[in-house]
Amino acid sequence: MKNPSDPRLPESEEAQDSPEDSSQEALEALQRKLAGLGETSMRKTYYPELQERLEELERLKAFLDHSNDAIFLVEVMTGRIVDLNESACRQLGWSRSELLEKSLFDLSDLHDTPAAVSLIRSEQDAEGRDVIVTELYCHDGGSFWAELMLNRMHFRERAYVLAVARDITQRRAVEEALRQSEEFLKNIVDHIPAMVFAKDAQQLRFITINKYGEELLGFSRNEILGKKNEDLFPPAQAQFFSSKDHETLEQGELVEIPEEVITTAAGDRILRTKKIPLVDEHGKSRYLLGIAEDITERRQLEEKLLQSQKMEAIGQLAGGVAHDFNNILMVIMGYGSMLRNDAALAAPHREQVDRIMDAADKAAQLTSGLLTFSRKQVIKTQTVDLNDVIRHVEKFLSRIIGEDVQLRALQAGHPLPVDIDANQIEQVLVNLATNARDAMPRGGLLTVETSLQRIDAASVQANGIGEPGPYAVISISDTGVGMDDQTRKRIFEPFFTTKEVGKGTGLGMSIVYGIIKQHAGFVNVYSEPGIGTTFRIYLPLSATSPLAEEMLRDLEQPRGGHETILVVEDEADLRTLLEQILAGAGYRVILAADGAAAIEQYARRTGPISLILMDMIMPGMSGKEACQAIRAIDPAARVLYTSGYTMDIIKSRDLIEEGTELLMKPVRPLELLKKVREMLER
Ligand code: ADP
Ligand code: MG
Repeated sequence: MKNPSDPRLPESEEAQDSPEDSSQEALEALQRKLAGLGETSMRKTYYPELQERLEELERLKAFLDHSNDAIFLVEVMTGRIVDLNESACRQLGWSRSELLEKSLFDLSDLHDTPAAVSLIRSEQDAEGRDVIVTELYCHDGGSFWAELMLNRMHFRERAYVLAVARDITQRRAVEEALRQSEEFLKNIVDHIPAMVFAKDAQQLRFITINKYGEELLGFSRNEILGKKNEDLFPPAQAQFFSSKDHETLEQGELVEIPEEVITTAAGDRILRTKKIPLVDEHGKSRYLLGIAEDITERRQLEEKLLQSQKMEAIGQLAGGVAHDFNNILMVIMGYGSMLRNDAALAAPHREQVDRIMDAADKAAQLTSGLLTFSRKQVIKTQTVDLNDVIRHVEKFLSRIIGEDVQLRALQAGHPLPVDIDANQIEQVLVNLATNARDAMPRGGLLTVETSLQRIDAASVQANGIGEPGPYAVISISDTGVGMDDQTRKRIFEPFFTTKEVGKGTGLGMSIVYGIIKQHAGFVNVYSEPGIGTTFRIYLPLSATSPLAEEMLRDLEQPRGGHETILVVEDEADLRTLLEQILAGAGYRVILAADGAAAIEQYARRTGPISLILMDMIMPGMSGKEACQAIRAIDPAARVLYTSGYTMDIIKSRDLIEEGTELLMKPVRPLELLKKVREMLER
């Protein structure tokens, strides 16, 4: 039985804290009570257990108060704070008694955190714990971020939540700094113009990849991460990549793969890859870092360069031999014809000399072909229309290809002035037609077509050929047997032939090559085995011919269109001029003499009006006002302003809205058409 008056029993009425009383008050009450029993030293002697108990409680409290964490004992359901440590006051700035009047919900927006709400508000004997990150509000109106550990607990048959709040301001700052530095690094890695990736050494699964890698592989980061080689690449390739991965990890040092092919949705790409093992402090490989550079374009260029260097070398050799050989032939042929003219020559001998001379003729043809290939022949150029050359040889070509092959010649609708040796270009056409015939033993179609093409700097670089500028193009397509890549690469070499002995000389294409080179042009070949072949011959358009100048001007001519344009212009002459320019380019033009008329025209429109050409300053309504009224009818209406004022004046007088387009008067026709087209294309 408890005796309330017995001071040795700390569980007396006052000392035994009802759960509602906070520990502080209970402890203080107990301290007061025991103080009545005398000095500490005395108590130690006479009431050792009691004194020990007090000290134990004081120590516990000191523990709690010295914790860096704010600790609250919270009533379930209400969230009322029933007890707390000193740190809570220190951190939040409220006094103990103030906090004891608050609920945990007053200190933080916990209502928005379902986990916290369910922990605090659930039934009496619910269990559980959770850690949430939340902002705690302080007495001074400030706040700080805290990690709040919530723990359901029971004490004397009552349910509480023990809430321990840890200030994580610093941790968050560190985390934020870390995030920023990660972001920065990622940004750098993403901007490296090469694929950068990492895999874990255990399973060789991708754990990171940069943006370039995503684009190269044609997969998103999410599709790649966690995947192995086998999940992403065809079996043979995956196997190769994996073997290199293993090799790198086993050797523990950088492995370079000078050339590996990767199949992507956009086609095969050639990569130069370096694989680097990343080791931990024990020297064990933890990750594999990969850096892969796309060298496809470089390879292609190198190959082209190599090819042209080879052709150059062969040309030198062939030219040299042919030149000397020609001199020898001249001697043979000279004495041969003297001999043939000798009346004393007996008939059988004459026949033999004829044979020698025939053979020498053939040899001369050969050397002449070789000389053409090595560009040692002299050419006589003249400015002619390439279409005329085609017209001239058309009949001849159809005789070459025979009856089973149909010839279709399509000429560009305009002249194609080129500076050429027409005989030589005819020779090119004949050689190409001969090959086409051979490629179509069972008949087919040969198409010869001329056109104009502008070669820009980009395609010159990509192909490693020619100079940028306008070119006349002859394309010759057959529907023949075609050729594979191996053959295609060698066709221009002298004496390269796939034809049986006696049928082909292997000089036809070499001559084509030599002639076109000598004309500062170039030849492209497209071929598919079984489908056919297209040769495209590019000859620079004559720069000197007036025809060419006209052609070039035409090329610069901006395109017209068929859209409807509303022209708003108060000056009658100018209105007519604008109408003529626009209508001349094919547009349908509606005219308005002022703003009011323009609005009316717009409202009455029967079809779409694609653009409004609006004078900015007009008597009555200004262009801007008219435009606003029109936009009220159709917010999408597109307006191009014209004005005689400079942009500065217009801006200072607020005559124009941000983002509208302006054309200065006097308007030049070409500029107008270009601008109009540009706006319509948007
Ligand atoms: P030749 O005709 O004497 O064989 P060329 O130099 O004219 O020599 O051609 C070389 C090779 O190029 C041919 O043997 C053939 O393999 C290939 N070739 C040229 N033109 C065509 C074509 N139109 N279709 C298929 N193959 C072609
Ligand atoms: Mg040939």
